[in-house]
Amino acid sequence: MKSHQDVSKMYINGQWVAAKNQATFPVYNPANGEKIGDVADGDRDDAQKAIHAAQEAFGPWSGRTAYARSKYLYTAYQVMMDRKEHLAQVMTREQGKPLKASRGEIQYGADFLLWYAEEAKRIYGETIPAPRSDQRFIVLRQPVGVVAAITPWNYPMSMITRKVAPALAAGCTIVLKPAEATPLCAVEIFKIFENAGIPGGVVNLVTALNPVPIGEAFTTHPMVRKITFTGSTQVGKILAKKAADQVKRVSLELGGHAPFIVFEDADPVYAAKGAVLVKFLNTGQACISPNRIFVHQSIIEPFIEEFKSRVSKMRAGSGFEDGVSIGPLVNDAAVQKVEGQVTDAVDQGATLICGGRRLTDDNLDKGFFYAPTILGDVTPEMLIYREETFGPVAPIIAFDSEKEVLDMANDTHYGLAAYVYTKSLSRAMRMFEALRFGIVGINDINPTAAAAPFGGIKESGIGREGGREGIAEYLETKLGGFSV
Ligand code: ADP
Repeated sequence: MKSHQDVSKMYINGQWVAAKNQATFPVYNPANGEKIGDVADGDRDDAQKAIHAAQEAFGPWSGRTAYARSKYLYTAYQVMMDRKEHLAQVMTREQGKPLKASRGEIQYGADFLLWYAEEAKRIYGETIPAPRSDQRFIVLRQPVGVVAAITPWNYPMSMITRKVAPALAAGCTIVLKPAEATPLCAVEIFKIFENAGIPGGVVNLVTALNPVPIGEAFTTHPMVRKITFTGSTQVGKILAKKAADQVKRVSLELGGHAPFIVFEDADPVYAAKGAVLVKFLNTGQACISPNRIFVHQSIIEPFIEEFKSRVSKMRAGSGFEDGVSIGPLVNDAAVQKVEGQVTDAVDQGATLICGGRRLTDDNLDKGFFYAPTILGDVTPEMLIYREETFGPVAPIIAFDSEKEVLDMANDTHYGLAAYVYTKSLSRAMRMFEALRFGIVGINDINPTAAAAPFGGIKESGIGREGGREGIAEYLETKLGGFSV
């Protein structure tokens, strides 16, 4: 029997608490299958308790000055930076990404606390010239109220701060449910909020193995005024439909199927370097991961040669080992999905250039590893051409003309990120304007930062996170009309 001391608890109303029914669930390291902890397994009652705490805290929190709210976020930023190394270790153990990538994510996550500590002081209203001489119009921006947030496992710390920081800056209070695969990362982030002195009830954490009852509580409780979700398009649609019943505000950051386009005027070696870096980032488990790499016919050979040479040097393994750039996938279902897409593509005529198998040597069979894979001659009939892969597979497709590649790139329900490599300024501008995606990288594979609006169009989502836009998601606009 384990004692309660061993269990990571939920954070509700400023207290670390067990689940009401005392249930717990285990958490495993995806690199070796070892159990790394037990976490409180909350249900609907716990979620409701947290929502009530957030509602109680909303009045006092939103009543503080922007300067006071800002100060808490600055302190949280500082605490997060002080703990960078410890947090990175927790993340690599629980999520699997290489330590260097974990450190990068901690910095990215902390940046949101800093950016929104600053933005809290810039929630400006407006005066508008009125049509009558005895009338005045004044516009106020006010916090939406209690926010319910659901976050994913692929970026298990930064996806939390990306929501909590703007919500708190705006004057909202929040209840957050992290992914069941990475609750320990969430617990660490909430310890930061506690240690930064953020008052009880302003930030609440509910952990659970089964997300469904928590999602139900979030979407049906009348005190929740806003749902913010990052995860799959499928779950985003479920939540948005339920939230519609009470016309709750929603922000959704969902799946993607990014095109990566390399024109004939680009340097194929430079483009291949960028493509490898962004494709295998987080072992392909990123919503901005390229899922179709379009390369002009005339330079496809040198592109593939460089791409393959770089992939062949990548090493898979534990994120704690030096030189490892390919971590595990999140679970067995993820490996099976990748296997299914690769088999389907090869059966329909794709060329397997390298990889294409589960990795089992050197104890990798204890984790969820898949070899970095390149597929050539990919066509629109294949599953991988339309379905998000979320794994280390690079599908390459040849094209002849700008018009053809633009049509192919836009032929998707998704609309999150797209990438273009070209040396022509006019072509870069034409593509930037014509690609139906929320984020376009031009000769750039990392168009993300706390200061920049991140988000998708079409089935990739609604709303933006980061930047000036990120805080607007947590604000209502109120018009005052005065007769004088
Ligand atoms: P992925 O397939 O990448 O794991 P999901 O959309 O399933 O993405 O998961 C993202 C987040 O959504 C996680 O926190 C997960 O627990 C949560 N989630 C999954 N299904 C539901 C649901 N029916 N209701 C509420 N939350 C859900």
